[in-house]
Amino acid sequence: MSKSKCIVKTGEKPGKGSYNCTNCNTEVTLGEYDKMPPCPKCSNNEFTC
Ligand SMILES: [Zn+2]
Repeated sequence: MSKSKCIVKTGEKPGKGSYNCTNCNTEVTLGEYDKMPPCPKCSNNEFTC
């Protein structure tokens, strides 16, 4: 299974880790049960994981 780029959207619970905004590259760190918020800088709703 190849590990290619994946996308996490606002409201999803992707699990513990850090994710980067696809628009401004701001890093968001989530805990195990946290929901992905909108980007704190640009309000984008998509992040790479
Ligand atoms: Zn952003």
